[in-house]
Formats: sequence, structure tokens, C-alpha cells
Amino acid sequence: MTATPPAKTFHVKSFGCQMNVYDGERMSEMLGAEGYVPAAEGADADLVVLNTCHIREKAAEKVYSDIGRLKREDGSTPTIAVAGCVAQAEGAEIARRAPSVDVVVGPQAYHRLPELIARAEKGEKAIDLDMPLESKFGALPKRAGGQRPTAFLTVQEGCDKFCTYCVVPYTRGAEISRPFVDLIAEARALIAGGVREITLLGQNVNAWDGEDGKGRAIGLDGLIRELAREDGLERIRYTTSHPNDMTDGLIAAHGEVEKLMPFLHLPVQAGSDRILAAMNRSHSVDSYLKVIERVRAARPDIAISGDFIVGFPGESEEDFLATLAIVRATHYAMAYSFKYSRRPGTPAATMNGQIEEAVMNDRLQRLQALLGEQQQAFNQATVGRTTRLLLERKGKHDGQLIGKSPWLQSVHVAAPGLAIGDMVDVRITSAGPNSVGAEPLVEAVA
Ligand code: SAM
Ligand code: SF4
Repeated sequence: MTATPPAKTFHVKSFGCQMNVYDGERMSEMLGAEGYVPAAEGADADLVVLNTCHIREKAAEKVYSDIGRLKREDGSTPTIAVAGCVAQAEGAEIARRAPSVDVVVGPQAYHRLPELIARAEKGEKAIDLDMPLESKFGALPKRAGGQRPTAFLTVQEGCDKFCTYCVVPYTRGAEISRPFVDLIAEARALIAGGVREITLLGQNVNAWDGEDGKGRAIGLDGLIRELAREDGLERIRYTTSHPNDMTDGLIAAHGEVEKLMPFLHLPVQAGSDRILAAMNRSHSVDSYLKVIERVRAARPDIAISGDFIVGFPGESEEDFLATLAIVRATHYAMAYSFKYSRRPGTPAATMNGQIEEAVMNDRLQRLQALLGEQQQAFNQATVGRTTRLLLERKGKHDGQLIGKSPWLQSVHVAAPGLAIGDMVDVRITSAGPNSVGAEPLVEAVA
């Protein structure tokens, strides 16, 4: 009798945006269906997939140091696959620069990972940067839900907006919306597996469109309304949105759909119309502020979040002060801010007026100080409110759990007897810069 060889182990490491987290989960599910088992934490895996991000230079360079770290003491390496946007942007160059890389696969071709690994195991450098017409989603195994009560669901991919600083239209390709029926089926599988909150994802998620089960044209608001009818699903979120695609229907949904959480991530990038035009953002400061005003009229307690870039080519001190002004006018609950990063192949990379690093550092610091004050103020203003949490993970202390408020705050609660996945009514009792504390009001609602 011959013993069965132990199953091969794998580890998928995702960098960057939530869409990469989603892709990483789908790759893990696919490798599981192929008989691979996840490597124990800290252990050496037979296969490592680095699911990379190309949005800023630092993120892109990180992949090379990560590849270097995979070398074992005896000089050997696991099978290494580089996936994601660096793979798409740099292609075969990765395998030249890092010869230990066996597979290079772009974000639209990762459903072919098993066959690429098989080719690599025969000694070939397997490279697939195709953006095939057939959707990768149809070729992936069905979703089964997971160990967590929350899940991402990619509904839209790619981007046709071509902001002049951004690589996404080149690495993720043209905008596509996944079909309604596929999304409902995937959501139902997640809910059946215990998921209670779904975050709909897309580079321009609010540009999603499709036809509902009766063949009627709908937008993201229609999809949200349909999902809200699913029993067992308690909460719906979506990210990331473009200001120009905030339709009347979507704004109204914030006031009408109870399961749609009062949180909107709406990047503006800069507060000067001159810079917004150079960025090809196709919205103005005024049109952005009007959208915020209308969303707040529909849902007065909505928390607003955003993305900012400082030091775009040609940004003067006056332009930067306009960015601080739009922050003051909006009052963000949280936000992400970045120094402009020059990305090869994008129009902004060759623009005149590239800004010195020291100036960018100074502006980023001033912007982050203001955004930090606003986040603290937002958290402070929720102290005393009663609200409902979805408990997502264990805290540092015994009996402590961490959940999310409707406004996406991380909430620490001492909740003996409660479990991850429970929903609990709490009163917020304290506020910090990045999280709040709360006490339970009633027994958990299972
Ligand atoms: N589609 C979304 C939008 O337009 O708001 C954003 C998607 S992008 C993956 C996430 C964020 O990365 C952007 O909002 C922008 O702030 C930032 N980003 C993109 N390209 C950048 C660059 N070249 N330098 C610095 N930040 C950048
Ligand atoms: Fe990039 Fe602009 Fe598209 Fe967002 S809208 S993904 S920033 S090109």
C-alpha cells in the first residue's frame, strides 16, 4: 500500500485595495478546490501568491522585497506566483528582475492560476496578462461563505474615467458590470454561509448597471434594493464611488433602505478646480459639495469619507489651501490621504511642475492633522448614542469583542457571552482617534 502524499500548502498575500482582498479570497477558494490546503501561520508554504498593488510606487516596489524574503535557508524557494496590478503593469519584466518568480498573472486572468501553476511545475515561466472577454467570475468555484460575518462582493471592475495620475484603467481594464443574477446568486451563497453584512465593491462601484430579474434596467440603487430583500442579510455597504455617478436613485436609497448603512466613501482628491481639471476628475469642488449636501439631506447622520492626493504636478500653496478648505466644508468622519506618486505611462507623470518631496511631506502632514481632528470630532460626537454593532473579531482583552457601528467605526465592547457574528445594541461611551468604546444595552440578538 502506498501512502497518499501530504496535500500541498499555499499562502495568498494581498496588498492594496479591498478589490484585491476579494480577489485574494477567490484565489484561495480556487486553490482549495484544487486540493491545496492553507499553510499554517508562519509556516513555509509550497505555493505563495503575492497579490500586488501598483497604485503608488512604494506599493509596487514592495513586491520585490517580498519575493526576496521568500528564499529559504537552503537557498530554495516555494513556487511563487505574482498576481494583481503589478503583474499586469510589469509583466515578464518581473520574472527577469526576480528569477525565482514562476507565474505572473494579471487581475483579469487569475481563474487560470491552476493551469499556470501546472506549467510552472514543468519548468516553464508561466505568464498570463490576458484581459479575456469571458469573465473570470464564471470560471471560479461557487462561493460558500466563510468564517466571518462580513464579506466583499465585487460587482464592477475596471475604469473608463482615466484620471491623469491613475494606473487603474491600464491595469484593470475597461469598466464592466457583473450580471445581476450572478450577484444575487453569490450574495445568497454568502448569506447561507453566515454572512450578515456585504460590501459591494468596484473601482467605480456606483457606475454599476444591469438588468434585474424582470429585464428592467437598474443601477446600483436597484441592486441594493433587491439585496435588501434577502432574509439574513442585515447590512449593505458599497465602495468606491465617483462623485459624478451619485445618481438621484442612489442618493434617495440612503434615506429609504434601512439595511444600507449610513456611510459614503466619496473621494474628491483635491479642493482646487484647476487641479481637478488637470487630474481629469470631471467634477468640480462645487458639484462635489452639492452631492454631499444632497446625501446629507437624504440621510442626515451619514458619515462621509474621502481620498486625497497632495502634490499633484503644478499644485501651488494656494491650491493646497483650497484642499484644506474643502475638508473644512465637508467634515469627514475618516479619510485616506496620499502624496502624489508618479506612475509610468500616466499623463501626469510627464506633466511640468512635479512637486518636491519636502513640499509634499509638509502638505501631507498638514492635511492629515486636519483630517485627524475631524475624525476625533466625529467619534466624540457619537459618544452617548445608542446603536447596533455587528461583532467581527476578538479584542485584546479577555471577553472583549470588536464590532463595526453603522458609521464604520471600530467599536470595542466588553461582551462576555456574545460571539463573533452576533448583533448587539450598545451605548457608545468613549472616543479615541481611530475607534470608540461601548457598553452593551441588551442581550445579543442572534
Ligand atoms: N476609483 C476611486 C476614485 O476615483 O475615487 C479610487 C480608486 S484608487 C485605487 C484609490 C485612491 O488611490 C484614489 O482615490 C487616489 O486617492 C489614490 N491614488 C491613485 N493614484 C495615485 C497616485 N498616482 N498617487 C497617489 N495616490 C493615488
Ligand atoms: Fe483611478 Fe480615477 Fe478611475 Fe478612480 S476614477 S480608478 S482614481 S482613473
